[in-house]
Amino acid sequence: MMMGESYEEGCDYLYKAVLIGDSAVGKSNLLSRFSKDEFRLDSKPTIGVEFAYKNIRVGDKLIKAQIWDTAGQERFRAITSSYYRGALGALLVYDITRRSTFENVGKWLNEIKEFGKADMVIVLVGNKSDLGNSRQIGEEEAMNFAEAQGLCFMETSALEKKNVDEAFLEMIFKIHEITTQKSL
Ligand code: GDP
Repeated sequence: MMMGESYEEGCDYLYKAVLIGDSAVGKSNLLSRFSKDEFRLDSKPTIGVEFAYKNIRVGDKLIKAQIWDTAGQERFRAITSSYYRGALGALLVYDITRRSTFENVGKWLNEIKEFGKADMVIVLVGNKSDLGNSRQIGEEEAMNFAEAQGLCFMETSALEKKNVDEAFLEMIFKIHEITTQKSL
């Protein structure tokens, strides 16, 4: 199923990026926040890949970001190479209130190494920052980990709409930087 607007109109750059991370960390809510400014309290009913488009204007150029969501497939470890094919960036999401989701970040990184492009832009995202009272992973611990792995890092709240655009845009602008440098 496709969310958001269609891909009909022209653009100067089309970038594919993927959302990855354990189930229920907030991937689809981050995407709907970014692409449609919506938040859902219920959990999602469907299984299957979903994606959304977002237009970003940089000067006189139009970037179209096509962002894929696992839509439940991660529950069955059914994410395949086609999910990663052509992806230039990834938001790797964990839930700051569930340590297991942070501990699994290494597994997701291995998967990116296996299936993804070598110079993929990866932003580590600690979601649900609004639930600070139930926090199980400190910001500093995650930041140190990200630094050691050479990843960008940000804490977000899809619920409170905090840092959501920033996280996606950081990834998209980095992709743009790399792509335009390559074509010089
Ligand atoms: P996904 O399986 O990773 O796509 O996760 P979902 O987007 O379906 O979210 C899983 C659950 O976490 C849902 O009940 C959401 O309402 C909730 N959730 C997602 N993002 C946030 C957030 O930023 N804060 C809080 N408090 N709950 C969130």
